[in-house]
Amino acid sequence: MSGAQSDFERFREHLSAHGNGGLVHAVAARAAIGNWRAAMCSQDDVRQLLERWGIASAALEPIEHALAAAWNARAAAYAPYSRFHVGAAVLGSCGRLWCGANVENSSYGLTLCAERAALAAARAAGGEAFLLLCVAADTEEPISPCGACRQWIVELAPHALVAMVGSKGAERWCTPAELLPWAFGSEMFHRQL
Ligand SMILES: [Zn+2]
Repeated sequence: MSGAQSDFERFREHLSAHGNGGLVHAVAARAAIGNWRAAMCSQDDVRQLLERWGIASAALEPIEHALAAAWNARAAAYAPYSRFHVGAAVLGSCGRLWCGANVENSSYGLTLCAERAALAAARAAGGEAFLLLCVAADTEEPISPCGACRQWIVELAPHALVAMVGSKGAERWCTPAELLPWAFGSEMFHRQL
């Protein structure tokens, strides 16, 4: 369980831009558990970790709700070409949730992914401090954002965590920088020679 402990600490540090509240701790805890649950022996392991971290299991409910919302958002996908339905949900530090699904186009290159749809909805609704972006698809392995979405995540949700979810409950959690190392950003504008 040492892997879960170190993930909890580094995720909490990454999320510290949002302060030190209960929801921040709960997201860090749920992320660490998501990464290591397969290696844990039982539900007791999870209970012990939550107890050690001082987090009530009820505190995880907003995160479970966000994960379920991403999964359910697949139903709204417009994917007549690939038939690959993806859902995404963004959880704000205020507890608000915004969802998105992939929207395809007969001009394939114009297709919009679920992650960008959810981030655009969140940003357009006035949200800006995002704790979590969940993405879910009917794949055995956790679904992974494409390169364009990684750039969007780094731009609009740099202090969030990303939860990737597969159809059988497999999860992978990471930071945006882990998804897109050496990302291009607005700070580059100031580094021109
Ligand atoms: Zn994408």
